[in-house]
Amino acid sequence: MSAAVFLDRDGTLIEEVGYLDRPARITLYPFAVDAIRALNRAGVRTVMITNQSGVARGFFTETVVKDCHRHIADLLRRGGAHLDAYYYCPHHPDGRIAAYAVPCECRKPGRALVDRAVRELGIDPTRSFTIGDRWVDIALARAIGARGVLVRTGYGAGEERRRDPGVSADAIVDNLAGAASWVLAIRR
Ligand SMILES: [Mg+2]
Ligand SMILES: [Zn+2]
Repeated sequence: MSAAVFLDRDGTLIEEVGYLDRPARITLYPFAVDAIRALNRAGVRTVMITNQSGVARGFFTETVVKDCHRHIADLLRRGGAHLDAYYYCPHHPDGRIAAYAVPCECRKPGRALVDRAVRELGIDPTRSFTIGDRWVDIALARAIGARGVLVRTGYGAGEERRRDPGVSADAIVDNLAGAASWVLAIRR
């Protein structure tokens, strides 16, 4: 059973642009490739867990989400880095596409996508970490017994000011590079 980093996408790995509806709008943060490669080399699994309610809201399709993830994988591969899996939740109770407009267990902080990673990749969540720019990413850590790192990129700086009374992070760092360093240091 290996340790993993459950990684948020928007505002954490790539620039936050609102509802990302085409691969051409993707910009990896400049430190993202090095950070992921460092985790790869240390043997930490890297698993994307992202809420994509734009599917339920009718802003884009699941095909677009998959195209975006293929593009991110290409960008990472060029730098010798990879994610072990890409999981997303397409649902939202207020959506307008009936098939997706449902309450679900996979929208963060729900843990269903983590449970899928546990089954498919043999991950021990209690030895694992979440990294993200929203308190919901930290709430996911609490739900699975992992440690949660908040990054200040994306919405993170605003989240840090607007403390969620229910959740506190194990670390708050400037960005994914700082988060990867923190994870690698604490694992030693
Ligand atoms: Mg985010
Ligand atoms: Zn869902």
